[in-house]
Amino acid sequence: MGSMTLKIAFSDFDGTLTLENRALTRTFFDIVDHLTDRGQELVVVSGRSLSWGHFLLTHFPQLNAAIMEGGGVILTRNKRNDIDEHVLIDQGEVQALESVTEELVRLFPKCPLSVDSFGRKTDRAIEFEFMQDEDIQQVLQFLKTRKVHYSKSNVHINFWVGDISKYNGVRAYLEKFRTDVHESEAVFFGDAPNDQSMFQHFENCVGVANIRHCLNRLDYKPKTIMTGAENDGPFGVLNYLRGIQI
Ligand SMILES: [Mg+2]
Repeated sequence: MGSMTLKIAFSDFDGTLTLENRALTRTFFDIVDHLTDRGQELVVVSGRSLSWGHFLLTHFPQLNAAIMEGGGVILTRNKRNDIDEHVLIDQGEVQALESVTEELVRLFPKCPLSVDSFGRKTDRAIEFEFMQDEDIQQVLQFLKTRKVHYSKSNVHINFWVGDISKYNGVRAYLEKFRTDVHESEAVFFGDAPNDQSMFQHFENCVGVANIRHCLNRLDYKPKTIMTGAENDGPFGVLNYLRGIQI
């Protein structure tokens, strides 16, 4: 913790701003209030779809931006209070993803695409909760042979074409919209393997305590790792923010 000038808190959503059972608690609202009171921005950086970003920006006027689909697209609120979408991959990559998805559905009819896949632009997601390990392995093998990237979060296997990562999304956001902010004035909170691009490249990264469940599977770990059930998910985020000396 210690002292830093905080301008932006970037945060993963599932398991970080929500609890691991997916519950959105009042602590989320406390986090939004804590940052808003200090003139600091919260930017959700999530593997969830574009439409989730629309939900967040529509219902939380305190939020000005969200980075969704694992960094494939940035949503921002404009001066007319409408939401702008900034897709970070090119049209060819969007189309390549489309055809691989059609092939996947044809070859693996039992592989359940997430219900929000229709709302996705730059990636797709598989709901793997009820899949057999063996079937998961076959699907991952298929994606590998097609040179499609993928990453497993708490809830989904996301896959995409092109150079998408949470870190690239965050960098693009800082470069396009917040040139006043230096990376050292921002922090990132995460809890899972799909946050590793941030853990690898971003200066200030915090793992909330429930990251303990996957720590031994991570190639890159956050600099700060919180511990104890009182620091799980959103509790850890709020405790960390409260501990920053200004
Ligand atoms: Mg997560």
